[in-house]
Amino acid sequence: MYQNHTHELACCSPNPLHSAMASHLSVPTSAGTPANYFRPVTGRADLLVLGRIATGVPGAPEVEAMAISGGVITGLGSVSDVEGLVGPGTEIIKSGDGVISPGFIEPHMHLWTTMLVEPWPDLSALTNATFDDVVAKLKAVAAATPDGEWVHGKLFDPSLYEGEPDLTRKILDQIAPNNPVFVLNASMHFGYVNSKALELAKVSNSTPNPPGGTFEKEDGELNGVLSESGAILPFLAVVPQPTQAEAAGTLIKIMTDAAAAGVTSMREGATGAVIGVGEVALLHQLNGLKRLPTRISTAQWATVGNQAWKDAGVTPFSGDGMVRADAWKIVTDGSNQGRSGYFLQPYLNETTGGHTNMTPEELRAIMNEGIDAGWQLMVHTNGDAAVEFGIAAYADALAGREKNDLRHRLEHCSFAHEQDFVELKKLGVSPSFLMNHVYYWGQVFRDNILGPERANRLDMVASALKAGLRPSLHSDYNVSPIHPLLSAKTAVKRVMRGNGEVLNASESVSNEEALKAITVDAAWQIHADDRGTLEVGKRADYAVLSDNPWTSDSEGWDKITCHETRIDGEIAFQA
Ligand SMILES: [Zn+2]
Repeated sequence: MYQNHTHELACCSPNPLHSAMASHLSVPTSAGTPANYFRPVTGRADLLVLGRIATGVPGAPEVEAMAISGGVITGLGSVSDVEGLVGPGTEIIKSGDGVISPGFIEPHMHLWTTMLVEPWPDLSALTNATFDDVVAKLKAVAAATPDGEWVHGKLFDPSLYEGEPDLTRKILDQIAPNNPVFVLNASMHFGYVNSKALELAKVSNSTPNPPGGTFEKEDGELNGVLSESGAILPFLAVVPQPTQAEAAGTLIKIMTDAAAAGVTSMREGATGAVIGVGEVALLHQLNGLKRLPTRISTAQWATVGNQAWKDAGVTPFSGDGMVRADAWKIVTDGSNQGRSGYFLQPYLNETTGGHTNMTPEELRAIMNEGIDAGWQLMVHTNGDAAVEFGIAAYADALAGREKNDLRHRLEHCSFAHEQDFVELKKLGVSPSFLMNHVYYWGQVFRDNILGPERANRLDMVASALKAGLRPSLHSDYNVSPIHPLLSAKTAVKRVMRGNGEVLNASESVSNEEALKAITVDAAWQIHADDRGTLEVGKRADYAVLSDNPWTSDSEGWDKITCHETRIDGEIAFQA
């Protein structure tokens, strides 16, 4: 489907976005070290920034002056420290009341699936207090949609409603008897379709389950629930696609919204999953038209296959400072709040603890494909059994190989045991936590889905640090909002939104540890050693904030606003 899909979008057109999709030639081929885009630094500063400058360096106080030349920080300290770097051509900026902070690093989010669903009605629990509200909203959308046209919805999350009700085929047929319906779960691990949609995707009761997905059934009949990407992607292939201009506009909007939260670099977590290998070329093309609001590091969707990526000119660390292909993404299990994460023990009131999306042999094969090609691996593991499954596969895949600096990762690592982090440390694999799980879903994990003992083992950031690891915090956007300071606050406070209670205070981390996980350690995890702190020799990527998180109470972090971001010292976002 990837080939067809890409081809379909790449038809002949003078639109530069079309040609980006059609050709791999626009992917810069500067393969090599991640930091190979440094420009030479000249003696005099282009820019001198004066004000409160929080360097993000542990223990470092605020400084008052930062000199920048060629996008790189060349001086930092007191005004007299940098005086010698100032010449007649130096532009001087005063930050006023704002605090200059290292730009935040979002190490795992989704540009493409979010782009696709952006215009769809919001069925989230944040805007729909009850399941009846969801049904009413979909009914209203269906009533306003001409017969035969698609009705969509995004961010539906049954785990946050009493009884965890699904939008089954039966319910959706009642809501929209004359329209095909496709609704995506907030976790992106489930879809919900009605009979008309099943017809259009040519999925019937006798259709076998695709690799890596399940068309759920009740009494042998399709019930309209699609579990995992293998079952969801055939429907994404038949829903109407945005035009190139719409896609471009939405991608820029998503990056601008992230920049408004102080973010200057992001890792896209499943590149190629929506429109195939052309996604990378499109990002380069967009950046060529006008510099992107954030830097993007891509994680190639492994299912596409390395040969297809190679044929498209997308190889490890190819690209440039703004768009670079870095990683290889594999998803081993589902969503814990959707009860499809893979656990050692059954879910509450159930007889099973979920399952993996693949056999151990399949996981090893797809990991080896990525490692052999030289990619950094990102392996999604949500349940505690999936975490063990991922660790065992890493142990096999890395055994006998020479040590390198690819910095393989375990994504979410949501429910784990202390020993898992010890094993990860031995393997040199670091976790990235979807920290908002605690804030948005902590209470339902504890009370409805897993019970208190297991819920306590959600996002064990302190245990990861204790094992000597360098964890990062991510949003998995649009699973949860891009808001690094809220993620960091949650890592410190571990407060659950539902009832304001604390989920296992022993996994709380210090302010400084939490901030490292959204700056320098997240940068390390995306191979951006030239970012994450403000230090001489690093890129001048920074955010202008309303307060200094390094010196303020974490209670107020989520209220800190961002007025401006800069990449290489040049404006990337302004409020
Ligand atoms: Zn993800």
